[in-house]
Amino acid sequence: MSATYLNFINGQWTPSVTGEVEESRNPANQKEVVGLFQKSSMDDLNQAVASAKQASKPWKKLSGSARGDLLYKVASILERRLDEIAETMTREMGKTFPEAKGETARGVAILRYYAGEGLRSVGDVIPSTDSEALMFTTRTPLGVVGVITPWNFPVAIPIWKIAPALIYGNTVVVKPASETAVTCAKIVECFAKAGLPAGVINMVTGSGSIIGQGLATHPDVNGITFTGSNGVGKRIGQAALARGAKYQLEMGGKNPVIVANDANLDLAVEATISGGLRSTGQKCTATSRVIVQSEVYDAFKEKLVQKVQQLTVGDGMKAGIWMGPCANEGQLQTVLSYLQKGTEEGASLLCGGNRLQGEGFENGLFVEPTVFENVTTKMAIAQEEIFGPVLALMKVNTIEEALELANDVEFGLSASIFTTNIGSMLSFINEMDAGLVRINAESAGVELQAPFGGMKQSSSHSREQGRAAMEFFTSVKTVFVKG
Ligand code: NAD
Repeated sequence: MSATYLNFINGQWTPSVTGEVEESRNPANQKEVVGLFQKSSMDDLNQAVASAKQASKPWKKLSGSARGDLLYKVASILERRLDEIAETMTREMGKTFPEAKGETARGVAILRYYAGEGLRSVGDVIPSTDSEALMFTTRTPLGVVGVITPWNFPVAIPIWKIAPALIYGNTVVVKPASETAVTCAKIVECFAKAGLPAGVINMVTGSGSIIGQGLATHPDVNGITFTGSNGVGKRIGQAALARGAKYQLEMGGKNPVIVANDANLDLAVEATISGGLRSTGQKCTATSRVIVQSEVYDAFKEKLVQKVQQLTVGDGMKAGIWMGPCANEGQLQTVLSYLQKGTEEGASLLCGGNRLQGEGFENGLFVEPTVFENVTTKMAIAQEEIFGPVLALMKVNTIEEALELANDVEFGLSASIFTTNIGSMLSFINEMDAGLVRINAESAGVELQAPFGGMKQSSSHSREQGRAAMEFFTSVKTVFVKG
């Protein structure tokens, strides 16, 4: 029997008024139900928003340090449950257990970072032209914040939205992706156990088009923070804009890595594999286009393909497995359709290209890590986000050509270059249209205290994380005091 997870509303674990539940299944073994979660309706959401609204005033009045003390407690509880929650993550969305543990540890670190923010400065003193006046800025919470999250980082993303929302005095209603509703319920259990006042954090599970859309359009939700696909993000942005709510969208990527003639090739190969194929390529910052200068193209390709062919694929709970399954059936079908499109459009398959079935893969959503070459920039596999373990190799003669190709997509989340030439590094920093620009490091990855977000179609409005989080989760008040 699988456990049933309830909504969390006004400090109580609450079944949906619909009486209906949905299943969360293991993508490595679809016969395994990881847990059941509530298929909620607008009535459930309305209750959650009402409780968040009611909790808003007393929570805002609490000192930042008192709010921070509670976040430190949440961090300790999550740390104690790290292995268990990481295992749930692996069983719900397929990421390998070591990666899931790393992500959960990051969740703990994020909580501690924001707990400390409760004691840091939030404003500036600004000289007034009136010598008898004091002028300064302070910040005030938005009120109720709606948090809508994807399945690919089911611990880190909810926490990097919920923790800053709470520390700056907002209350929260979180709606997780259905694929990882159980993992989210376990995170919310940590918040509940830490003793947050009723209504400060609420969780409602269910479909995106009802609960997600309901949050985006709800008149009592003052801010919406969303991470997910481009199409959904745009809809949420429009709904929030139409009613004057603050919103923040983190969406897709089609991230390039440039390998220059003077690159350390072993490093570039390792980083391309790690950045492109870890988590089955299901990272918004995953490397998907590999732009290599002609002099080192053949050597790089040979090393890359040899290593990719050695990667072990399977159930991420098993020791020795490097790459797990696609997170859900839709995602698997999307990846398979791009593998077909790549070949149809004239790219050449260097390795991979197939679904993995048969012994060891019977009930799972496994696909081979795949490398294409002879990819041209107009091909779908060079332009569209696949969100799977697929690398597209492109050969160029010069760094200028490489930069032009790298920028020739509608996204601008992250980008890497491998080079030992300072001039190439500077050109890359200056000309690359991406929110995260990384040199001699893989495209996937950002430290939790630094701003995170992209350009073009990848993100909208303020960055996440670090000081940027304060910008989003608060409004500025300019204060003028005359004695
Ligand atoms: P998704 O857009 O399908 O779902 C994200 C969330 O939105 C889920 O909770 C979903 O239930 C909800 N949702 C779905 N339809 C909705 C609607 N009409 N209104 C409101 N909410 C709705 O994305 P996904 O498949 O869960 O995640 C994969 C996508 O997320 C990829 O495109 C990836 O690039 C992106 N992503 C971006 C970042 C980033 O920081 N830029 C990080 C991780 C993932």
